[in-house]
Amino acid sequence: MTFRAVVLTLYPEMFPGPLGISLAGRARDEGKWTLDAIQIRDFAADKHRTVDDTPAGGGAGMVLRADVLASAIDHARSLNPDAPVIAMTPRGKPLTQTRVRELADGPGVIVLCGRFEGFDERIFAGRQVEEVSVGDIVLSGGEPAALMLLDACIRLLPGVMGAASSGTEESFENGLLEYPHYTRPAEWEGRTIPEVLRSGDHAKIAAWRKSQSEIDTRLRRPDLWERHDDARVQSASGARREKKD
Ligand code: SAH
Repeated sequence: MTFRAVVLTLYPEMFPGPLGISLAGRARDEGKWTLDAIQIRDFAADKHRTVDDTPAGGGAGMVLRADVLASAIDHARSLNPDAPVIAMTPRGKPLTQTRVRELADGPGVIVLCGRFEGFDERIFAGRQVEEVSVGDIVLSGGEPAALMLLDACIRLLPGVMGAASSGTEESFENGLLEYPHYTRPAEWEGRTIPEVLRSGDHAKIAAWRKSQSEIDTRLRRPDLWERHDDARVQSASGARREKKD
């Protein structure tokens, strides 16, 4: 099955951009995914091709019109009827590797890129649009966020990544950050590689990596660690309950 990405944007020339080279570009050449970057302005109803208007209630900036967005979304859905429609917005649910994996397992995605102050709020309920954020930052437009979302999905498509295991061992895949990596030279500017990694003892190396991954997550991302710990406690108590019945 080919993963079909449909992007709705005021700047279709930004696509495929970085997704046209390296891993994603090669995968596209091989037909593992396709991309349609569609100009939202083509769905404006007036002769000036207006897509935005001033905010109701006043204030700075312009807001993307719900009626124009709806026509663009309806067109995109005709191209990929089963794909979820995702709007990139800082007000959305933070993107996670779990959601990326679900999307990569599906028929593709329709991505809506905002500009200016963003979208008329009514579009989300009116067209069943999922709101997704790529972090607690504000971009000037949804395009870089869309590229990020698509990049994360594409690398997970079957046959895209070289080593099959490198997809599952990575940061976030088990709720933790990945362990740190090293390579030659063994000594660089007086800094050495942890001795255990040069021991050749695979069990010891695996244990070291697991503990580094836990330590780093606890120190760098207490939020992830807490969730991971809660899940562990819950599954342990679930297992105990199962044994009792
Ligand atoms: N006024 C909005 C920001 C608009 S930024 C607010 O304060 O919430 C313009 C566009 O950039 C948005 O419509 C959205 O498509 C995109 N964008 C900005 N930051 C983003 C983020 N963190 N995640 C996803 N999209 C973002």
